[in-house]
Amino acid sequence: MSKRKGESSEPLRALPGVDQVLNSPAAAPWLDRLPRERVADLVREAIAELRESLLADASRAPEDPLGTVAAKVGRLVQSLSASSLQPVINASGVILHTNLGRAPLGQPAAEAVRSIAAGYCNLEYDVEQGRRGRRDVHCGSLLERLLGAPALVVNNNAAAIFLVLHELARDGEVIVSRGELVEIGDGFRIPDILEASQARLREVGSTNRTNLDDYRDALGERTRALLRIHPSNFKQVGFTGRPTIEQLVGLAKSVSLPLIEDLGSGCLTDRLAPGIEGEPPVSQSIRAGVSLVTFSGDKLLGGPQAGIIAGDPDLVARVRRNPLFRALRVGKLTLAALEATLRSYLAGREDEIPALRLMRVPADVLSSRAHKLAQRLVEHGVSGCSVVAGESLLGGGSTPMQRVPSPLVAIEGRPGATAAQVESGLRSYDPPVVARIEKNRVLLDLRTVPESQEDDLVAAVIHSTRPRKTGA
Ligand SMILES: *Cc1c(COP(=O)(O)O)cnc(C)c1O
Repeated sequence: MSKRKGESSEPLRALPGVDQVLNSPAAAPWLDRLPRERVADLVREAIAELRESLLADASRAPEDPLGTVAAKVGRLVQSLSASSLQPVINASGVILHTNLGRAPLGQPAAEAVRSIAAGYCNLEYDVEQGRRGRRDVHCGSLLERLLGAPALVVNNNAAAIFLVLHELARDGEVIVSRGELVEIGDGFRIPDILEASQARLREVGSTNRTNLDDYRDALGERTRALLRIHPSNFKQVGFTGRPTIEQLVGLAKSVSLPLIEDLGSGCLTDRLAPGIEGEPPVSQSIRAGVSLVTFSGDKLLGGPQAGIIAGDPDLVARVRRNPLFRALRVGKLTLAALEATLRSYLAGREDEIPALRLMRVPADVLSSRAHKLAQRLVEHGVSGCSVVAGESLLGGGSTPMQRVPSPLVAIEGRPGATAAQVESGLRSYDPPVVARIEKNRVLLDLRTVPESQEDDLVAAVIHSTRPRKTGA
């Protein structure tokens, strides 16, 4: 190792050599998992990191430099050889949890993905004719039957809105009510999408009230479309108002402009769950005469991440021809999952769709599961367990205001196992458990936990409630 000017070589001399680390006993399990050259790179990286820290502050020299490097390499090997994407137990009770992958797929959809994933398929091949086909056909006719209008599938709803605006309103103006210019979460803002699509935003009305004349007064030479956005993740109460969808359709038709509606969630059922309302079904907007609707595949629809554009046949065809469609289209795995999900709707088997099934589980069924779980925890010596009344959330950037009653298993925090410690212990379990904390207690909602995961959940709670050293 050559010595840089002015640096003290003393602490650096303690650095282990690459071969020394590779030949140490610690290296055996790494070499089982990764090729020697890959591991050697990681060893170099770990030595370099220790070297940097010694140069910055020689007093931080570790007592066991080889052990320090080996620990770092061990972590790197682990992170490279284990899957980063892993299943978690969702005990949060948020049914469409954006951070946890939104809608879980149903059995038929999961099976469809499995059967398509590892081999060849007729993605763009017409088996009957023996020539090139179109990937649109796989979900196209199902969507048309379910929605009553032709449809197109893209990567997500953000892509759907972007593509529609880019095709219909690029270099022109889109009229939107101020009360609908929402941030959906994760920094997703409609104005940003508009800007990216090169459409100019024309805001009308006030934050809490917009009437039809506000839209009418804003119409001009440069107007390309009217846009209505379903306020899915907030609710305005009090002195509020906006035109009905029929009124907007009437206005748009009278001036021969398209009315675009971003529905957000994409509800395909007439009946979500008892007590849940306010999610307009997609077919309702289409019947009302909206030119194009857009919505997500993985919110209330309960399928894979996707964005769906449906409505007027000529406009759908125009959007389909936009060159950017190619950049936003979906692959075979998404189509396989979406097609199977849509078939469940068509066959009237909505119970095959977990998002719908979970929100419909009655509270008394969950209550009996919760009491059994609490009982098992008590038998395993977990103290402070009880069943309390609570609520599950629909969530998912969609209708988070909507809640369904759900009995919860509560675990009281105590010294050495505070709620925060238990919650973090649950996350460090394999598989990790995501739970809620409220006051000094951890809340587990079984609505989003399949019965097949209950044993793991019990083991995770036992693991995480073992008392730790206080003050540590
Ligand atoms: C969720 C949502 C979006 C974004 O949908 P993605 O599928 O996540 O891209 C857009 N608009 C509304 C109203 C939404 O609720």
